[in-house]
Amino acid sequence: MPAVPAWPPHSLPRLFVEARLGEGATLTLEGPQAHYLGAVLRLGAGKQVKLFDDRSGEWLAKVMEPGKRRTSLRIIGRLRGRESVPDLWLLFAPIKRGRIDWLVEKATELGVARLVPVATRRSVVDRLNLDRLRAHMIEAAEQCERTALPELVPLQPLDVLLRDWPPDRPLLFADEGGGEPIAAVCTSAPAAILIGPEGGFTDEERDAIRALGQARPVSLGPRILRADTAAVAAVSIWMAGAGDWSRHADR
Ligand code: SAH
Repeated sequence: MPAVPAWPPHSLPRLFVEARLGEGATLTLEGPQAHYLGAVLRLGAGKQVKLFDDRSGEWLAKVMEPGKRRTSLRIIGRLRGRESVPDLWLLFAPIKRGRIDWLVEKATELGVARLVPVATRRSVVDRLNLDRLRAHMIEAAEQCERTALPELVPLQPLDVLLRDWPPDRPLLFADEGGGEPIAAVCTSAPAAILIGPEGGFTDEERDAIRALGQARPVSLGPRILRADTAAVAAVSIWMAGAGDWSRHADR
């Protein structure tokens, strides 16, 4: 019996759309998305595309009228619902431009639910282009087949975040000064991981974080990791221990 290929093939183009999707809906894509489908992929009428809207799940659509500037599509069926991603927040002190784009992309692929940029004393960046970060997040979600986008919130000062911290959410504080072995702490959701800037946390910041009842200082080993490396390492360990990687066993 020949293996039945998964349908639709993973290789179909996959796009996030702001428009609300539904059975039989038609939509018109313009700008970069139309250019991608019409000029880059040169999709003709009848070709299929996967669409998701971060609300109703993922749908199969068919190109009705191809075009380089405008492409109209019709929904022909729903492929799956909007998944629930593990309830993990990643708090990170903004780092240099190229690296923060990379960090947002990796956090999206790894399954983070909310991205929280944090202003700390030694942050090298005090303004964020959220639109640019959101574009990287969407591109990563399209590629890794998420049906739910991470939430990206505006930059907030560390002291405000600590003051308003939710009582039921442990804060795994990656402390380059040392802490508990992270694998022993990554046991359940909801949770949050806090990564400092290249310059590290000040002693006052470290004291303020440790004073929070929900804070759990964790070590990422004996070496000093770059902030982006620390974020990817900590999120990966959490996803394996408390996230949905173990539920994914053999797809
Ligand atoms: N410049 C600082 C290090 C900052 S590293 C110094 O030399 O001390 C950037 C961030 O990554 C840190 O604030 C921390 O959140 C995290 N990090 C890096 N290495 C770590 C480790 N071994 N254990 C825990 N957190 C670490």
